[in-house]
Amino acid sequence: MIKTVVGSYPVVTKEPENIWEKLLDILGIYDRYRYAIERAVKDQLDAGVDIVSDGQVRGDMVEIFVKGLYGFEDKRVVGRVEFLEPITLKDIKFAREIIDRQARGKKGIKGIITGPCTIAASVKVENYYCDNRDETLIYDLANALKREVESIQDYVSVIQIDEPILSTGLYDLDTARRAIKRICENIKVPVVLHVCGDVSDIFQELNTFNVDVLDHEFASTRKNLDILEEISKKIGFGCINTKIKSVESVDDVKDLLKEALEILRNNPLFSDVKDEEMLKYIMIDPDCGMRPLPVDVAYKKLKVMVNASEEFERELRERL
Ligand SMILES: [Zn+2]
Repeated sequence: MIKTVVGSYPVVTKEPENIWEKLLDILGIYDRYRYAIERAVKDQLDAGVDIVSDGQVRGDMVEIFVKGLYGFEDKRVVGRVEFLEPITLKDIKFAREIIDRQARGKKGIKGIITGPCTIAASVKVENYYCDNRDETLIYDLANALKREVESIQDYVSVIQIDEPILSTGLYDLDTARRAIKRICENIKVPVVLHVCGDVSDIFQELNTFNVDVLDHEFASTRKNLDILEEISKKIGFGCINTKIKSVESVDDVKDLLKEALEILRNNPLFSDVKDEEMLKYIMIDPDCGMRPLPVDVAYKKLKVMVNASEEFERELRERL
């Protein structure tokens, strides 16, 4: 199983320490977030994650994107939304440098964008569009985000679109499907759609989206396990509860993985697939981003996830 993360990591910034950094600070060009990216990437590599993120440290999942797109002032829409220049590329390249310095073995980076419906739902529409559900706003966001994806795709092994708003039922799923199709068209790397929350009621629709992997939370929403009987895509399996600070045990995570595999056996898609083969269809990750957690807790949770998956796979092989 590929071990990955959903995206965000606790933000550990560093104040300028030496003369050079202090000088850069006086000139207004000292970047406090470089250390935060370094910490996020190093922690993920140390924990044994295969596809890491840059930690999404520069703001919340909406801030990062609205800051870089034309048409926004803070989280207010003041004009037509358009792509200006790559938003996350610089940090992705820096994450790659850290990987090249530190990693043994092959490691990948996940390029992450916040989905058009989730951005539309989180901003104040003051101009140009009617309201937060205006389809033109959603499609303009999709077109702008597509340009972002095109700008990073050569540097990442997978793209993830975060659309948590879809599990609330507030957005029309046909509009969301069309917007995501627009983003994914002609993209060279696999695309993951991350929707946290309870997706049991909207899963049938999500299963028809033009993406390669559906990523959901299973540790904090056990009800979602039922979707494994019918899923027709690869699975992003959230197996670490990111809503609580207590760290689960390796056995807790292994039990959840065992349960998932048993349900997957009922899926017609896997009827002729051996257990060991089935694991190739699964990417494991925490339920959601880890930004709100204390950094030591986030690291421990990743470590538990990695240890659990490795033990689980070893035991499965031994049984064969
Ligand atoms: Zn999430």
